Amino acid sequence: MIYADNAATTKLSRTALNAMLPFLKELYGNPSSLYSFGQKAKDAVELARENIARCIGGSPREIIFTSGGSEADNQAILSAAAIGRKRGKTHIISDTIEHHAVLHTLKKLEKEGFEVTYLPVDKNGLVRAADVAAAIKDSTCLVTIMYANNEIVTIEPIKEIGEICRKRGVLFHTDAVQAVGHLPINVENDNIDMLSASAHKFHGPKGTGFLYAKKGVALQNLIEGGAQERGKRAGTENVAGIVGMSASLSEAVENMEYNAKKLTALRDRIIKGLSQISHSALNGDERMRLPSNVNFCFEGIEGESLLLLLDDKGICASSGSACTSGSLDPSHVLLSIGRVHDVAHGSLRLSIGEDITEEQADYIIKAVGEVVSHLRGFSPVWRDLISGKREFIL
Ligand SMILES: *Cc1c(COP(=O)(O)O)cnc(C)c1O
Repeated sequence: MIYADNAATTKLSRTALNAMLPFLKELYGNPSSLYSFGQKAKDAVELARENIARCIGGSPREIIFTSGGSEADNQAILSAAAIGRKRGKTHIISDTIEHHAVLHTLKKLEKEGFEVTYLPVDKNGLVRAADVAAAIKDSTCLVTIMYANNEIVTIEPIKEIGEICRKRGVLFHTDAVQAVGHLPINVENDNIDMLSASAHKFHGPKGTGFLYAKKGVALQNLIEGGAQERGKRAGTENVAGIVGMSASLSEAVENMEYNAKKLTALRDRIIKGLSQISHSALNGDERMRLPSNVNFCFEGIEGESLLLLLDDKGICASSGSACTSGSLDPSHVLLSIGRVHDVAHGSLRLSIGEDITEEQADYIIKAVGEVVSHLRGFSPVWRDLISGKREFIL
């Protein structure tokens, strides 16, 4: 099997697993307990906090452990909204290609009277920093723009946007779930006030993430209860998860340059290969994209059938479309970059892992080519396209 869906989740690294095992077996104490057995768990959590802070250029007190990226996004946005509301500021700026953890939280705030500006992106999925500057008003309490998109993997001009926000005194949050562990990130250099991350996107365990919130940003707790995480996130800590997240982040940061170089070469090999397929197009920016990801649209086919046939050939991939989750709407991200419905339906996202070989990359290219021609062979849309009844878009 070739696993090419690392943007959905990644394999737990051996290093992370080994770091976690003692806390799943013998060191099961509660970090809030006073006896030394519990303190061992507490020490491990605090060591992880220091290490994670170091990896992103923050300080340990600025890290709150969460159940993942979605929770961190919710907490960051709702906290900024609460701070804003207290000051009579109820305007938020975001963009149209955010993850649903951000978009749905913003929708909720709109129902509560907040006004949200969703900035458009260009045809490559880039948010323009100048648009952010132009959209800021006196009433703006938050700008939330993702570090890198999870479908078309475009990397946004975060440092520039952060600089604008800092100058204008507006809080800046970034959903960096796809970026942490894959791109060099420094919250100070990038002018970031709040950042969300998730362990399972960088070979850590599922159900663990963190929120970085700069000193002075008053976080709101989403979960009431005990005084864990300095009262900002109640509930007994997921000790093994936190330790595993820390170990996998260290590993990812250590190997970042090597991995990025290897993945970029193979990614570009796949992009070149798939570009040979007629009436296809790469989605996202050619240059400003994550090293591991390829996203294509193929005219005249359905992304879902493509995925099923690739599965038969032993390839795990995903479609940019939300169809897999039971809705028939094509991806909001692909529509945002200007792909029309029919084209957006024929999309394919391949996110390769560090252990992929050149032979496997070539196998992917060959398999996708075969499956696309096979599906076009009995597609009524394709028949109309080649007979001239319909016009090609790509
Ligand atoms: C995966 C992902 C999330 C959600 O993270 P979970 O840990 O699965 O809750 C949020 N944002 C982006 C960009 C993601 O890729």
